[in-house]
Amino acid sequence: MSHLRETIRRRLDDEVGRISKQAPFTVALAYPSPYSVAMSSLGFQRIYRAIMETPGLACERAFLADDDVDGASQERPLTYESRTPIDAFPVVAVSVAYELEIAGLVRLLDAARIPVLRAERGDAHPFLLAGGPLTFSNPLPLAPIVDAIVLGEAEGLVPEVLSVLESIRPRGVRLDVLARMPGVFVPERHGNRLGEIAKADDALLPAWGPIRTPHTVLANMFLIETERGCSRGCTYCVMRRSTNGGMRVVPMDTILGLVPQDAKRVGLVGAAVSDHPKIAEIVRTLAEQGREVGLSSLRPDRLTDEFVSALKQAGTRTLTTAMDGASERLRESLERKARERHLVRCAELARRHGMDH
Ligand code: SF4
Repeated sequence: MSHLRETIRRRLDDEVGRISKQAPFTVALAYPSPYSVAMSSLGFQRIYRAIMETPGLACERAFLADDDVDGASQERPLTYESRTPIDAFPVVAVSVAYELEIAGLVRLLDAARIPVLRAERGDAHPFLLAGGPLTFSNPLPLAPIVDAIVLGEAEGLVPEVLSVLESIRPRGVRLDVLARMPGVFVPERHGNRLGEIAKADDALLPAWGPIRTPHTVLANMFLIETERGCSRGCTYCVMRRSTNGGMRVVPMDTILGLVPQDAKRVGLVGAAVSDHPKIAEIVRTLAEQGREVGLSSLRPDRLTDEFVSALKQAGTRTLTTAMDGASERLRESLERKARERHLVRCAELARRHGMDH
């Protein structure tokens, strides 16, 4: 058995929550970073679930080889579910988080023997569909590589795009149809003109990750979104209130109701998790259920005695927050509302609750 196949077998054995499904139209869902990064991505896991929950559609996951762990960077990438080379699929959908992952995408395609440039691919090659956080901020560097890009919140749109790709085969017609869908950017049709960013229906929220695995940075952690977007206005940020109408809060009962009984670790994910009006209550409840809780973002002005005490009870040992501006004047000009006194209070609360860092 090759090293890659052995690595895949071992990782699959350790996964909890994988969805088993076969469907007439199965695509490769690839991530241009190693498994340990990909499976910590709530967005990647959300799209996996969106495809698997759509009748007639299924996906198989593939990842960039990790030289240290896989020892397999020269091997052709295989999907985890059936060990099939990704170039054998009609569609390869990729999630790209930020610009540096474009290098990973190039390596992944190279290893899969798929021509990297769109112009060098033909009908015999898979259709390359991209999405992910990068599409909020800077999707154009992907334009020479991929055939189409879902801009913004993709969970509602990806199954629709895949249905189009399943039912229409001639490339030109496919591109024409996709180019007319709001939220879909087709470089060959749109040039450099980016259209509107997709906004998922509220009914599709929150995102949560079905698969837990020990082989990620967030080992065995159940990931769930507490809110989407942000109500603040920091001028440098793509998540500010001007994006898709600002913050959409997920009710506390919905969040708590989705956490699996056996999840010992819970990751609350979002651009502004600590702005959730019931965040201290949510953390306290999870802690009282005996779970460890991690937060993806913590605003210094939101920290209270009750909140930090709940975090401590939930196993937090390090309090991480940021000012994002070296002076009050700079922060003011960036609409970053955090004040020096918030940071000082953060340090005081950390000490009071026995956190050393
Ligand atoms: S608080 Fe954070 S997420 Fe919200 S706009 Fe500012 S930097 Fe962006």
